[in-house]
Amino acid sequence: MTQADNRPTNFIRQIIDEDLASGKHDHVQTRFPPEPNGYLHIGHAKSICLNFGIAQDYQGSCNLRFDDTNPAKEEVEYVESIQKDVQWLGFQWNGEVRYSSDYFDQLHAYAVELIEKGLAYVDELTPEQIREYRGTLTSPGKNSPYRDRSVAENLALFDKMKQGGFQEGQACLRAKIDMASSFIVMRDPVIYRVKFAEHHQTGNKWCIYPMYDFTHCISDALEGITHSICTLEFQDNRRLYDWVLDNISIDCHPRQYEFSRLNLEYSIMSKRKLNLLVTEKLVDGWDDPRMPTISGLRRRGYTPAAIREFCRRIGVTKQDNTVEMSALESCIREDLNENAPRAMAVLRPVRLVIENYPVDQEEILSSPNHPNKPELGTHELPFAREILIDEADFREEANKQFKRLVLGKEVRLRHAYVVKAERVEKDADGNITTIYCTYDAETLGKDPADGRKVKGVIHWVSAKHAVPATVRLYDRLFSVANPGAADDFLATINPHSLTLIEGAMLEPSLKLAQPEQAYQFEREGYFCADNKLSSPDHLVFNLTVALRDTWQG
Ligand code: ATP
Ligand code: MG
Repeated sequence: MTQADNRPTNFIRQIIDEDLASGKHDHVQTRFPPEPNGYLHIGHAKSICLNFGIAQDYQGSCNLRFDDTNPAKEEVEYVESIQKDVQWLGFQWNGEVRYSSDYFDQLHAYAVELIEKGLAYVDELTPEQIREYRGTLTSPGKNSPYRDRSVAENLALFDKMKQGGFQEGQACLRAKIDMASSFIVMRDPVIYRVKFAEHHQTGNKWCIYPMYDFTHCISDALEGITHSICTLEFQDNRRLYDWVLDNISIDCHPRQYEFSRLNLEYSIMSKRKLNLLVTEKLVDGWDDPRMPTISGLRRRGYTPAAIREFCRRIGVTKQDNTVEMSALESCIREDLNENAPRAMAVLRPVRLVIENYPVDQEEILSSPNHPNKPELGTHELPFAREILIDEADFREEANKQFKRLVLGKEVRLRHAYVVKAERVEKDADGNITTIYCTYDAETLGKDPADGRKVKGVIHWVSAKHAVPATVRLYDRLFSVANPGAADDFLATINPHSLTLIEGAMLEPSLKLAQPEQAYQFEREGYFCADNKLSSPDHLVFNLTVALRDTWQG
């Protein structure tokens, strides 16, 4: 398959193909316009892959523009994290980062133009009255008593707003459109409001701020955006988008196209709700590995390629839908199965002594980094008389289905010898403390000479050489499929979403594991060293994803 064949097709790309074929456009310019009021999540990744992906495939470019018209909720921390996440996903924006606030002067001038044309007025109804006058889906709104002020009066009052002459909520600028429109967004929408808040880009220069609907279309036009792609909830707002651009003196008129948002089962995509999880300390920050944020997925061990592949597979349509968590997990599992180095880790260790192995002997065995990729080489694996195996891999008695170690029977130690369990030692409570075995010295890398069949293989680490680690196992963060629909979504948090294993023992090569570099812990799953908590003195590993789909939706 050629690269071109692998390109996604969707209705937005079809529109672009038509626009290029008809000569309506000779290039493609998109933008990704996050509001810096939280960290990016997997839903944003869908929008990023769409906007930046289109720019890449059509040799166009994509702007990164912060939609920063609400200084009260926005922070520099978010501005920085968003840039980092976009780049980590593998995309680069066109030129400098842009901000809607870069255009505050121009936006103000366009507002004045609307006033001069008799298309905007300063309203002094209270916010509650404005809501009342707006009407409902079934009843028309009614005109504000301030709607018919003269142009001169409106210009003076708008200037007074700008000079700080009104309190918040005392006055606002509204577009004069149609209080009876069947589209509520067209019922004289507010386009400027008073807000005495310091802005992270413009400081205290302004005490009036433009509203999203007024700002977005003008910013798109100023940047020469050809296709302004957003999610379906802005479908009605498209009327206002077009109305503003049709009524101001600006040459460019981008077209807005809407697609359906990504919803993910057992997850939430609302930044407001994600923020609540953080502020209520129900998770360990925006990048908690259970969060559906880009930084959380990254810390969990997801790769940019797996997230991009997920976005490719879910596609872009106008249908509302909810994607199963297993769809996301398959993408990372397939990536890591292909690319993650293999290693051994014993999560719940029990001691195993090989009594016929010489007391002071140690061997350096060799273990392939990837079973199907010899080109990835091997690493050293120390072996000695005392090893550790997982307590789940031993039983005193078991039927044939249990292909691990059983008293009196043999099992292969992965990449090492065949051992036979001879007896066990227990503590006062009856817990097994040591399993005593013998080994067959002729079975390193080969079957027993006499034709004995040894079916089971278990993983292990050398007790003397192993390094201790904390292992964090994750389950879904919510216990219901659609937590966003619950009255109190916080009450649907899964109390068992994190299991801490303190005493895990890892093969020594893992001491050098880089944060975020995922490994397959053989027979256990895919894990990576935590990018915040892990250090060479105290290793902390996160479960990225299980080896098989264990999801029970
Ligand atoms: P939230 O509801 O999480 O606050 P938002 O739409 O307010 O999301 P923005 O920062 O405005 O967040 O989003 C930037 C871009 O990402 C927008 O174009 C928006 O449509 C898109 N986007 C946000 N959430 C999703 C999602 N779940 N699926 C696809 N695109 C999304
Ligand atoms: Mg938004």
